[in-house]
Amino acid sequence: MSQLTQVYEEIAACQRCDLWQSRKNPVPGEGPEDAQLMFIGEGPGFHEDQQGRPFVGAAGQFLEELLTEIGFRRDEVYICNVIKCRPPGNRDPLPEELEACKPFLDRQIELITPGMIVALGRFSMERFFPGAKISQIHGQPRKRAGIIYYPMYHPAAALHQPKWRLVVEEDMSKIPQLLAQADALADVELPTDAQQLSLF
Ligand code: URA
Repeated sequence: MSQLTQVYEEIAACQRCDLWQSRKNPVPGEGPEDAQLMFIGEGPGFHEDQQGRPFVGAAGQFLEELLTEIGFRRDEVYICNVIKCRPPGNRDPLPEELEACKPFLDRQIELITPGMIVALGRFSMERFFPGAKISQIHGQPRKRAGIIYYPMYHPAAALHQPKWRLVVEEDMSKIPQLLAQADALADVELPTDAQQLSLF
């Protein structure tokens, strides 16, 4: 069993918060273990919960369209969420739920070691850019320890709003060049305090 499969098994057995009680299926994430590009959304919705797969509803369809526009197939990228079980009624994840799920996402990132992490939406952005405002930092890459972190608006927010759709498409269109020039992008200074490792 691969270490990533081991993580999936632990997610399936997890009872660190209450969401396991109301979910139908855990949604650990999917994609190649050596993916260069990793997308991290918020959490499973209705369809994801039914199927146990991330981004399979309307937002997922839009994400696939966006990927096609930049020359990627869905099965070439890794897709997951900050939270692995559906919050009832699609409510926002609670701080304690995010905290309980954090070690799983940390291990996924560690095992996949992508060149670029695209944080979709504010809950995912908050994980890498605590306290930032997505309206101010979307589409701006920051590199740390060899990984480019790239915040974007959530595709669901852009689905029915032409204005946001354009912004999302434009941010997405920069990804191939960023990946190609990843080596040339300078790392931001590493924090000296280990506690700040999740901060930029
Ligand atoms: N929205 C998300 O953030 N994640 C999914 O998996 C589906 C919709």
